[in-house]
Amino acid sequence: MILNVVKRKKIIFCIFSQVFLLFFILTSFEILKAEDFSDITNSDDNSKIFWFTLISDTHIGTPDANDTNRLNSFFKSVKSVINPKFIINAGDLTDHVRCNLLTGGRTCDHLAQWKEYANLIDANKIQLDFYSDAPGNHDQYWENIPLLYYRDYSVQGKATGENQRSWLFDAGYGTYKFITIATPHPGYTNAFDDRAAGCPSELSDDELNFIENALMYENNVNLTFIFGHHPVQNLVIGRTRFLELLNHFGVAMYGYGHTHRYSDSSRISSNTLNLNVGSLWERGQYAIIAIDNNGISVSQAIINQWPAIIITKPLDRTLGGVNPQAYPISPSQNNKIRVLVFGSMPTSQVLYRVDGLGSWLPLNKVRSLSNNNSHLWETTSWNTTTLSPGIHTLQVKAVGLRTRYDTVTFEIK
Ligand SMILES: [Zn+2]
Repeated sequence: MILNVVKRKKIIFCIFSQVFLLFFILTSFEILKAEDFSDITNSDDNSKIFWFTLISDTHIGTPDANDTNRLNSFFKSVKSVINPKFIINAGDLTDHVRCNLLTGGRTCDHLAQWKEYANLIDANKIQLDFYSDAPGNHDQYWENIPLLYYRDYSVQGKATGENQRSWLFDAGYGTYKFITIATPHPGYTNAFDDRAAGCPSELSDDELNFIENALMYENNVNLTFIFGHHPVQNLVIGRTRFLELLNHFGVAMYGYGHTHRYSDSSRISSNTLNLNVGSLWERGQYAIIAIDNNGISVSQAIINQWPAIIITKPLDRTLGGVNPQAYPISPSQNNKIRVLVFGSMPTSQVLYRVDGLGSWLPLNKVRSLSNNNSHLWETTSWNTTTLSPGIHTLQVKAVGLRTRYDTVTFEIK
């Protein structure tokens, strides 16, 4: 009898604990998939805006002077003119090939290239809280232990002893997650084999576990961004699981370099913007990424070409193809337009017009953002009552040393 009671108690406990476990799993799953784009991006609040910059393919060690000149110039001008929260470098920090094309990369002074990179970083007082540098395929060329130099001389490698990094950025009104990943394939440290094979990339199980843990940790963030060197299609190992992680966790963006050409983005999945930034060394290109009330805007920029301009409201409905964050604009006399303008000289005017028609109307400079160093221009009286339902374009121009334009597509509903 006593045994039966004990048994019954055990069974009841067992059932109870299993139900509890099931409940825990289900609720955990709900928490994990909670990150999506349902946050209100169509907000009148002009204080919840921050921006950062993405560069790639700096190739320190090439025979021309553009490698060091452009990275130096970028650090100096971008810090003072754009004042981003931080800079992300998507790899090929160093070159290790072009130093001697005739005899092959082994004759390069690889250590000297890494020291040149590290010295340039130090001279500009760049640290991990402002700069994160992911490894590219060039960063491991001719090494017996792949990315050993990277871990000794890159900013994040030196600080963490790892090839990948994740961190949270607290904007004061919300938290944003950033992960830099290591896509170089350790089987292709020979530059010629790598090129012949089409630069295959790899994420090992350990690397994917790191990424998954980083995504699960502190999962109630506003947005998550991942940056790596290679395009997703180059992944010959780990691609399926990586795509599943992007999709499952609703990652907002995968930013990368490698191609040396800026492409105006696409979508990896409906949520994940696929952003390819050009080479800073070869083309002087970089991207400004602005987050306005969780809405993402991207602007391609060229080093030292000012003013740089980026519309943050309304969101571009064609960003990456079909932008899931974009919201329709209602017919009203009080719609908002917000634009960030960055210039080495003061910008005299920022103006807008719709569908390339009519007279240009002014935006006003807002001085409340980023202390006195305001970059924000806006209007709170954009009259959309005369626009027909359907798709339109909003064009904004900033008049500074030169006149520069940005355009977004929006829908009137
Ligand atoms: Zn490159």
